[in-house]
Amino acid sequence: MGTLYSAICNDCGEKFQVSDGGGFSFHLLKCDKCGADKSLNFDSLGDIHKRYIKGLSVPYSTATAEKDNYIRENYHGEPIDEQHYHKEVEKIAGNCKCGGQYKFNAPARCPNCKSANIARDPDDRMIFYD
Ligand SMILES: [Zn+2]
Ligand SMILES: [Zn+2]
Repeated sequence: MGTLYSAICNDCGEKFQVSDGGGFSFHLLKCDKCGADKSLNFDSLGDIHKRYIKGLSVPYSTATAEKDNYIRENYHGEPIDEQHYHKEVEKIAGNCKCGGQYKFNAPARCPNCKSANIARDPDDRMIFYD
């Protein structure tokens, strides 16, 4: 689900690696100001993750299906939808030390000039890390 790829900054030409999306056991959020990554393990989210799994009609992923089914059958909290869930996760992720906020949909940024105007390196092979 998560991918790691090489990107080139269109503004300053910096080449860097971008990790995109979460994995089977964590979410990857990005700061909406500087683009710093923050990963949040599902287990560290506690009930809010269970409530989201409870609200899903299909398992989150095949890799977590067994655990998800267990939660759906044994957890009795209120289910929540994805939008609500993402808001809560962003709240738990909190603020970056630059003052920005970690978000699910914040763009990747150049580590050198913080521009979000980046392109995928055409020579790159994508790496799937989870
Ligand atoms: Zn930041
Ligand atoms: Zn740059």
